[in-house]
Amino acid sequence: MTPEVVIGLEVHAQLLTQSKMFCGCTTAFGAAPNTQTCPVCLGLPGVLPVINRKAVEFAIRTGLALHCTIAPQNRFARKNYFYPDLPKGYQISQYELPICEHGWLDIGQNGTTKRVRIRRAHLEEDAGKNLHEGIAGASHVDLNRAGTPLLEIVTEPDLSSPEEAIVYLKSLRDILVYLEVCDGNMEEGSLRCEPNLSLRPAGSKELGTKVELKNINSFRFAKAAMEYEIKRQEKILSEGGKILQETRLWNPDKGETAPMRSKEEAHDYRYFPDPDLVPLRISTEMVEAVRKNLPELPAVRYKRFVEAYGLPEHDAKVLTAEKDLADFFEATVKAQAETTGLSSKDIGKETSNWVMVELMGLLHRGKASSQSVVQAIPIAESPVSPAALAALLSLKRKGEISGSMAKSVLEEIFQTGKSAEEIVKAKGLAQVSDEGALEKIIDEVMAKNSAQLGQYRSGKAEVFGFFVGQVMKASGGMANPAKVNELLKRKLRA
Ligand SMILES: [Zn+2]
Repeated sequence: MTPEVVIGLEVHAQLLTQSKMFCGCTTAFGAAPNTQTCPVCLGLPGVLPVINRKAVEFAIRTGLALHCTIAPQNRFARKNYFYPDLPKGYQISQYELPICEHGWLDIGQNGTTKRVRIRRAHLEEDAGKNLHEGIAGASHVDLNRAGTPLLEIVTEPDLSSPEEAIVYLKSLRDILVYLEVCDGNMEEGSLRCEPNLSLRPAGSKELGTKVELKNINSFRFAKAAMEYEIKRQEKILSEGGKILQETRLWNPDKGETAPMRSKEEAHDYRYFPDPDLVPLRISTEMVEAVRKNLPELPAVRYKRFVEAYGLPEHDAKVLTAEKDLADFFEATVKAQAETTGLSSKDIGKETSNWVMVELMGLLHRGKASSQSVVQAIPIAESPVSPAALAALLSLKRKGEISGSMAKSVLEEIFQTGKSAEEIVKAKGLAQVSDEGALEKIIDEVMAKNSAQLGQYRSGKAEVFGFFVGQVMKASGGMANPAKVNELLKRKLRA
């Protein structure tokens, strides 16, 4: 019998505060090693940490979005362990009184919704980084990252497959980015996930022995590591073996996990309240102030996109998955609605097509960097602004340019930054809508094709398409198709 998979996730989100968790040092990424440190984050004796108010606010914001209870009184604790990137010999974290508890997140997959319970989310500081590069055989310690604020978000073991775990991770990342508390970048380490995974006989209530997985820095690796671990555990159990409770490291090159250390228990860390920090009191006023300013979250925005813009669910999902993309789409619709007086529903689907297919296509082709690696351009840096795209779509809607012309104009806006009107004017691209000019072309086409004209007039209606094609061809593709249809109907019948 296939065993049941039980997965819980711990996610460390690096908070987007300007300064560190307990000192004023900057959290900016990429500076020379050990240039962003002070006695507090270096862990020198005698210094006093001070709690970063912004980090507390970000934790509350996240807790509310995840339907957690915000503890009116919570406390920081010392988690004691030794490692070269932790000069104090302890990490300041939260233990028995975390700031957020008992929340949930609904995740959607294949049309069904599942509720994943959030056990807790607590604030802590990050450690430094050990560097094993440069001089051969030597290792270095960079403490720029030491003291950076983290929010650790822990689920109950509610997930039952790697796919489901990835859906949860992506939903959580979207929420953190929407909340503007974390940039969600797994590759740069601002979002780290540690799945814990166990197997049990199907239908059993008891949990099996769990293994924790570390060193995962992309969704792809997360899925691969969990899949590998399921197979490994299945094999051991089917051979009558026992799973050891341990922490295993994912090796992306080998595509397998390897033991790192046997699992430590909480008591191994000798947690105790940090005597340098007073208990943190959070007033109802503070919580309510944060709640009032919560932004619209992806799930709510998704529903609104379907209703307000008449979008298919697929479009709404793609557009709202990324906040910047959703903002871009809305700004483009708004700019058109303002100039044309049309409703959001009239404009929604067409705009969605142009943003998702045409513009995203150009952005994905991106720009070649110096190593000639193609990098997609993020939507926030799109060379085509929402106003510019709106102006282009308005020209198309008015019939001044055709759909295929609009595509080439978009590409030129993308390359040159010129406006749609400028490009259309300079290239003489405007569609021929002038009746006099079109009638002249139609007369010529009719004169040249008298046989087909005879067929049409004797009742062969399908010849109409032939005439449309001939007129479009004779105009070099510049004729306004709607106008051509209208005029042809009139003239062919006469
Ligand atoms: Zn510092």
